[in-house]
Amino acid sequence: MNSTSNDNDNIGYVCSALQCERGLGKKTAMRWIDAHGVKTNYNFSDLENQSNRFSNAISSLGIDAGNVVFTFLPKMPEQFFAFLGILKTRAVCGTLFSNFGEDALLDRLGDSGAVGIITRKSLYKKVSRIRDKLPALKHVILVDGDDDPATGVISYSRIMAEASSEYQVLPTSPDTPSVLHYTSGSTGKPKGVLHRHGSLASQMATTQDVLGLKEDDIYWCTADQGWVTGTSYGIIGPWSLGVTQVHYGGGYDAQRWMDLLAQEKITVWYSAPTALRMLMREEETIFTSADLSSLRSIYSVGEPLNPEVISWSRRVLKHDIYDTWFQTETGAIMITNRPGLEIRPGSMGKPFEGIEPAILADDGTPLPDGEQGNLCVKTGWPSMFITYLNNESAYSSKFRNGWYYTGDTARRDDDGYYWFMGRSDDVINTAGHLISPFEVESALLEVAEVAESGVIGAPDELLFEKVVAFVNLHEGHQPTKELEIKIRLHVSNRASSIATPQEIIFCDSIPKNKSGKIMRRVLKARYLGEDPGDISTLEI
Ligand code: AMP
Repeated sequence: MNSTSNDNDNIGYVCSALQCERGLGKKTAMRWIDAHGVKTNYNFSDLENQSNRFSNAISSLGIDAGNVVFTFLPKMPEQFFAFLGILKTRAVCGTLFSNFGEDALLDRLGDSGAVGIITRKSLYKKVSRIRDKLPALKHVILVDGDDDPATGVISYSRIMAEASSEYQVLPTSPDTPSVLHYTSGSTGKPKGVLHRHGSLASQMATTQDVLGLKEDDIYWCTADQGWVTGTSYGIIGPWSLGVTQVHYGGGYDAQRWMDLLAQEKITVWYSAPTALRMLMREEETIFTSADLSSLRSIYSVGEPLNPEVISWSRRVLKHDIYDTWFQTETGAIMITNRPGLEIRPGSMGKPFEGIEPAILADDGTPLPDGEQGNLCVKTGWPSMFITYLNNESAYSSKFRNGWYYTGDTARRDDDGYYWFMGRSDDVINTAGHLISPFEVESALLEVAEVAESGVIGAPDELLFEKVVAFVNLHEGHQPTKELEIKIRLHVSNRASSIATPQEIIFCDSIPKNKSGKIMRRVLKARYLGEDPGDISTLEI
């Protein structure tokens, strides 16, 4: 055995070394399928050896417990080796969505004081443009690059070849910080949600009892590792239970996805409503001709799952879809549908065992069943985040009288099912990704022609919500198609492609209150043609 620690809560250790100790070394951990369909199998010993090498490699660079190291990669095997390797050293592993632009990267790398990043040449271009603003970022490791002493760039192949595949994972307590994901708020910069190794208990329990994964399952989670579903249920949960995962490097393609489900004999599939709605729009023959006989269950997370998608799936895929609810902050599924519980289409289901949600009024009073209020969860579950990095006040503002306020509004029916109603803030959920209107507005203001902007989320049949930007131009500038394209490109490069406004509405002014705060509520009402309600604080 390469890692020899026993009785260790370290996530990296449990997901690789422990599985080898259990005799699963030769079992396939990851069936990697690249965008061209080329398949490579990695067994649990490979996972153990590669992650150990990465642990040794970064340790020799001086990276140590408590340091923050990011992966900034598309889905690829190195992402998984690095994730586990970083955690084994007890450094914190942050994951960055590979579509992030420069501002998004600067916010996250800067705020966390990251000392290292593992990326690839094409993505490093974005990092290199902001590197002089990141004094703490000492180590840049390129999976496809050579050493470059001039820029301090390090070759992944070299350090991995030089490193030993034996690594002793030191005892790691449940409270040791583990994974870092940034999440968007409606004001200010994104917040760094920090988790701990003890989150494993929740991730294992829900993977077992909600997703129902057993050792002979073949599981596919479509989420990107840049988001919490991609780490909690695309790495930690399944591998901690010794389950084989399929990871696919290509994007959405209905035919390809059905082939994958059929050929890989996938038994449990975890995806998201936008992807399922996209499938719903495809020719039915794609599904009727696919052999989905191995598939046992389908799960969904990230946005409300419309009842129509469930009935489509029942009719066409011949399966139910189990909607699950959680957040970056909760680290694991909290409220959920699962086999054995009757599905009420449109409902998120019932609390997972040991989780106590409540619907509370703003003053903390419990609301009767049927009434809409703040969705809260009684504190103390194992995967509860431990802080917002460098933002203790935002963290403490989320807790009152032993309840965690999720920022969602919901209602509970008489039978204890929870129904998602919306967000209690202005955060936009587009295709399951939370977008901060503030971040988009900041990017818009960097465009020379833009004087003011206000960004809202508007209902969208496919994406759940789309990003709509109201833009007021400086005098002397006219709205043109070219300017629209310029604005879109700018937001994509600075924030990310998913934050790019779907719609840009040029206007003469942006409604603000007397203290200068953008009144997005008024913009939303204007967009929807509704009554804006109380506008007494509107600046005239
Ligand atoms: P994130 O922290 O990026 O994972 O986003 C979490 C947010 O996504 C939640 O607070 C909800 O607003 C939304 N969300 C996640 N799962 C669901 C679901 N099953 N139904 C409705 N909204 C969801």
